[in-house]
Amino acid sequence: MPTYHVWTVGCQMNVADSQRLDLSLERMGLERVGQIDEADVVVVNTCVVRQSAEDTATGLLGRLGKDRANHPGRVIAVMGCMVGPDQADLKRRFPQVDVWARPQEFQPIVDIVGARTGLSTEGCLANLTPHLPDVSTFVPIVHGCDKFCTFCIIPYRRGREMSRPVAELVDEVTRLIGRGVKEVTLLGQNVDSYGHDLRPRVDLADLMEELHEISGLKRIRFLTSHPNDMSRRIIRAIAELPKVCENVNLPFQAGDDRILAEMRRGYTRAQFMERVHEIRETVPGVTLTTDLIVGFPGETDAEFEQSLLMLEEVRFDKVHSAAYSEREGTYASRRMPETVPREEKKRRLGAANDLQALIQTELNADLVGLEFDILVDGETRGRLRGRTRGDKLVYVTGGGPALGETVMIGITGASPWSLVGDLRATQSQKELVST
Ligand code: SF4
Repeated sequence: MPTYHVWTVGCQMNVADSQRLDLSLERMGLERVGQIDEADVVVVNTCVVRQSAEDTATGLLGRLGKDRANHPGRVIAVMGCMVGPDQADLKRRFPQVDVWARPQEFQPIVDIVGARTGLSTEGCLANLTPHLPDVSTFVPIVHGCDKFCTFCIIPYRRGREMSRPVAELVDEVTRLIGRGVKEVTLLGQNVDSYGHDLRPRVDLADLMEELHEISGLKRIRFLTSHPNDMSRRIIRAIAELPKVCENVNLPFQAGDDRILAEMRRGYTRAQFMERVHEIRETVPGVTLTTDLIVGFPGETDAEFEQSLLMLEEVRFDKVHSAAYSEREGTYASRRMPETVPREEKKRRLGAANDLQALIQTELNADLVGLEFDILVDGETRGRLRGRTRGDKLVYVTGGGPALGETVMIGITGASPWSLVGDLRATQSQKELVST
């Protein structure tokens, strides 16, 4: 039986794409292997949002090229954000690659695998719901992005926004529940813009209402929001639908208005803060996470300080911070020469991370002694782990719950990155376990 390995780097959207490609290759009759060395078909699912992710993928392609002589019949495929509409340059740089596929375009890959192995491709791309999904699974609901922030390559690689129909998503989530899933995270580069391109027009709140009715589904999350598209309706849906978790990822990217305008984010600091207040007022106990870029072209020390002030003011529960890295093909790479030296970017990133670690230490310490229901979704080094509705990672001490159970945990310890807790024999626990 021919074997395959899908190697993945990047965001949750890439993870979801890889799971779907896994399924189509298995339907064709290929067997998944854990090591690239053992695979007859190697798929490299790439990300180019950061230089480090791109370097990791190109490094792997280099190694696969050198190893070509040992695997002359192997299919090497590349998919994901590295693959734009014009592939001539990529083909010249990486002649060892047999096939290139843009995000969510699985057809070219299954075609070449079918031709090389003689396996039929018929039906392998229909209804790509993962067979053995995790308890908590990603479901892409809108592909692409229409925003064109000046630093971002995603709209050029993933294309314009395209929403999946509500009925298709309800069907997919129902099938996932039948396969053991308890929690879904609805994915979109700009998830709040879901549905504007569908007719009749719907929005994320409509979709969450529909999914909420699915029996067996315990929790609904969504990623990533855009401050301008997070409507009052969506915020109310988080507050009113019990299965929707009180956790919002709302990237601010920079704390200074001039930098926000240069980034073409479409909001000011004050408008962002207004949205934060609205969410916190409407959704009690909500946790907020965000994304931050430091060292954007032209960012002065004083402008960077505004980002630090923003961290202090909002006190996010988690921050994904990164130093600006120029992405070829973006507006910023064409028009905004880099001005912040590498060492200075490193210093700013360190300062932002140190401040945020302090904030998370304080926020998490405040949770010790409280009780939260967590969905047990895995195990790390012999300890069960799960997440609160606010997306706090909790390790469970001692025995107790099983994978997929929702249980009440008393928090006994905290670090900036996770919590530790034990199972509480409370009334609420019994109620939750029986759900
Ligand atoms: S909203 Fe901006 S940063 Fe996010 S994917 Fe779209 S263009 Fe990129």
